[in-house]
Amino acid sequence: MTDCLFCKIAAHDIPADVVFEDDAVIAFNDIAPQAPVHILIIPKAHIASANELDDGHAHIVGRLALRAQALAEERGIAEPGYRLIVNCNRQGGQTVYHLHMHLLGGRQLGGLG
Ligand code: 5GP
Ligand code: ZN
Repeated sequence: MTDCLFCKIAAHDIPADVVFEDDAVIAFNDIAPQAPVHILIIPKAHIASANELDDGHAHIVGRLALRAQALAEERGIAEPGYRLIVNCNRQGGQTVYHLHMHLLGGRQLGGLG
């Protein structure tokens, strides 16, 4: 989608601190990190939110989760623990309407607000 921020990052039209990329997934550091590790893992293909997911997306959702697991291991936060978050729409706190998984860790995380 042409006016989507994360599509532009996926296409390298806008710079980001990319930490992983393959054919279907790209991961980059959040611009406003909420924890020592705060990585956004996104599909390269545009999916606006979790509400738009269907059976055809099962594989890509799995790839996001497995990449989060691998990045957590790589950053040394697998054993102490981490949090994966997908915000959906207004009350879920979604601000960028391109599906993304937050990987947060490296400090004690509190309860959900
Ligand atoms: P949401 O609130 O939609 O779940 O998460 C959007 C996230 O994207 C926020 O944590 C925000 O800091 C991050 N973000 C917004 N714009 C940019 C950007 O241009 N570059 C990067 N790396 N992160 C961004
Ligand atoms: Zn997009």
